[in-house]
Amino acid sequence: MSSSKINMVDLKPQYERLKPRIDSAIQEVIDGASFIKGPALREFEANLADYLGVKHVIGVANGTDALQIALMALNLKPGDEVIVPAFTYVATAEVIGLLGLIPVMVDVDINTFNIDSDLLESVLSSKTKAIVPVHLFGQSANMKAILDFARKHNLKVIEDNAQAIGGNFIHNDGRESKTGTLGDIGCTSFFPSKNLGCFGDGGAIFCNDDTLAEKIRMISNHGQKKKYIHTVLGVNSRLDTLQAAILNVKLQELDDFAGRRQKVAEVYNEAFKPISGIKIPVVSAFTNHVYHQYTLKVGNDKRDNLKAYLQEANIPSMIYYPIPLYNQEAFSSYHSRGELSVTERLCKEVLSLPMHTEMASGQQSLIIERVKSFFS
Ligand SMILES: *Cc1c(COP(=O)(O)O)cnc(C)c1O
Repeated sequence: MSSSKINMVDLKPQYERLKPRIDSAIQEVIDGASFIKGPALREFEANLADYLGVKHVIGVANGTDALQIALMALNLKPGDEVIVPAFTYVATAEVIGLLGLIPVMVDVDINTFNIDSDLLESVLSSKTKAIVPVHLFGQSANMKAILDFARKHNLKVIEDNAQAIGGNFIHNDGRESKTGTLGDIGCTSFFPSKNLGCFGDGGAIFCNDDTLAEKIRMISNHGQKKKYIHTVLGVNSRLDTLQAAILNVKLQELDDFAGRRQKVAEVYNEAFKPISGIKIPVVSAFTNHVYHQYTLKVGNDKRDNLKAYLQEANIPSMIYYPIPLYNQEAFSSYHSRGELSVTERLCKEVLSLPMHTEMASGQQSLIIERVKSFFS
């Protein structure tokens, strides 16, 4: 049987489905010729705020800028420490270092891949000022434990929600909040392959505090409150009107996107559960999972062999992430506490399989059969 190429993420068929709406949204921006801070941006910021149940959304140029601007808004001083997980995308810690702050890396939970909240106490110092939990691969970190700890020690919390937009944190009483809306500031990315992706770079910052929101907006636009009145040092980081127009269409589909991803994950889970050599994703009771990635753990040093075996059949897979952040040369000066055992182990065991909203069942069957045949 011949089949079309299998991709990690397949954005083309999603665009084909939404094409009439997206194309007309793009055309409307072009016709209006208001490319910076145009009406579609204001509309999108309001729509996303509504969707998330948060007071303010500020569009920025990308997810990395979102994190940087969030940190800039918190009045931290050079040398202040910010706690981050050691197992995450580089951007989370990069911006901390860039601002002269110290990223303090903490190990993660072996099951959820998220920051291990039991370890926060062990890295606390008089210089600790903030925590940046990451909702990795699409499920929320333990926000209750993190927020309790942060309140107790007067720390700010910036949620890196780049991989979990649309996901929920579930409170003890069963109430649900959107990920990224519980800390002082939430940040996300609209990179094309993210769960809510635009057609280029994009990002956003969420918060409930009016004063903080105003400051964030100011910093993201050259530190100006009024044109040519510069109150603080800022950056030029805005979400293009064109991207906002595309996102306005895709935001309406975000819950459907999540549902499609969850279905793909269910099919993988059913197929892989019986295989003793791999562990399927574990979802915490306090979160749902929107599967930015579908990530297996492959033990006994078999991960790289499985990856190669899949590749022989033209099935892509990815290692997110292959190297602990503290072992990256750029971060070598920041970490003196030695290896973090869970992070070390995950870097050797994780393997993410193709996951997107348009997965054809025939393609997924091919992936599943190939994984099964490796272990048989
Ligand atoms: C994608 C991502 C970012 C950065 O977003 P960009 O838009 O690529 O700058 C930050 N943190 C995490 C966890 C991400 O996955």
